[in-house]
Amino acid sequence: MSEQNNKDLEKDKEDGKKQRVQFPQYFQQQTKDKNPNGTTLKTPVLRGVIVSEFDGSRIWVEASGNMKGRYGVEVPQGYNPEDLQPGTEVALDPNTFKITDVVEKVRDSEFVPVQTKTTFQDIGGLDHVIKSLNSNVGAQLDSDKLDKIQSWGLDMDKSILLIGRPGTGKTHLVKALSNEYDADMFMINGPQLVEKFIGEGAKKVKRLYEQARASDRPAIVFIDEVDAIAKKRLDDRRHGGEEVERTMSQLLSELDGLDSEGDDNVISIFATNTPDIMDPALLNRTSAIEVPVPDMEAKKEILQVHTRKLELEDDIDIELVASELDDDFTGRDIKQIARQAAVNALERFEDVKNAKVSMADFNEAIKDLKEGNLGVEKDFLGNENRHPDEMFA
Ligand code: ATP
Repeated sequence: MSEQNNKDLEKDKEDGKKQRVQFPQYFQQQTKDKNPNGTTLKTPVLRGVIVSEFDGSRIWVEASGNMKGRYGVEVPQGYNPEDLQPGTEVALDPNTFKITDVVEKVRDSEFVPVQTKTTFQDIGGLDHVIKSLNSNVGAQLDSDKLDKIQSWGLDMDKSILLIGRPGTGKTHLVKALSNEYDADMFMINGPQLVEKFIGEGAKKVKRLYEQARASDRPAIVFIDEVDAIAKKRLDDRRHGGEEVERTMSQLLSELDGLDSEGDDNVISIFATNTPDIMDPALLNRTSAIEVPVPDMEAKKEILQVHTRKLELEDDIDIELVASELDDDFTGRDIKQIARQAAVNALERFEDVKNAKVSMADFNEAIKDLKEGNLGVEKDFLGNENRHPDEMFA
């Protein structure tokens, strides 16, 4: 706090006047909230710094963001005035301006590149998508080709939007792409960028790109479920709109920066299932590639991928298995079926050394999936595909 501010504050206190200082309504209100400090987790909160000690009736908090200002607030229930020394960061409810939390200092997020052994061989039925990624993105990840691209002045796509239902293999594709081209993959899920504190999501995006740019190798920034921060309508600013909007603006400026500087070897890939609700600003800056739900041929290829290492009985007919699958089954469903069939075989054999997977094992697994007995698998937090390899401070 500046010396002038200090003096002003002292003067206010002496005069007993309240000029320049906003007194939030809650001074007149007796709240009946269950949570006495009154914030709901879904509402982004304002961040503020305490600028004066408790003066017997209130403490003063300097809030940042677009509600910037100095607020005289009560000591919240559950806290002692001594806990609230100048310099302490606090969270304020933007509706009531009550202190809801004492904030631990947040360190910058660190993103660690995803480690993966996934290759294009592990992807079934998406040859056309792989081809498109290879020619658009792959060329830029290959240093020899990149030199040519730059000397020929080719204007290549630096941002790609993968559109497809959950489980169709979007993440799988990006992992394979990064592995095949020895690129670093920095990955985050859109909802993880929707932060509680105004401005925190934007900071994370900035940090994500800073780290990608600083990488020794070409880098891919992958944001799955990007629609969480890229919705075209922000209905209610008080419930997350402003925070999300800032995050989105930061993302757009990162993309514009990458485009204009040109020499950064960073590619952005986003994924969504709902392009229709997305902000045109992001759609305009990306080239869209559809990742479809597999057709019959693709289903067979995915089955082949996921049965490659299994020991199969002679009665196995992949075509027949594929024909038993529902039209809307995704790659993730097929992987689950193959795994369940294998588990069924292991259970069937007394001496598992002789275990082989049969058609009956597959039929049982398909039946289980159709009846919802296999649960929902989300690879995002899975094992080999361990993600986000990102540590929140
Ligand atoms: P989400 O939007 O939920 O993140 P996604 O489209 O990114 O879904 P993935 O996470 O890539 O889907 O797929 C989940 C798992 O399903 C993958 O790890 C992979 O094993 C398997 N899978 C999905 N599609 C394919 C495919 N085309 N070929 C082989 N395996 C696939």
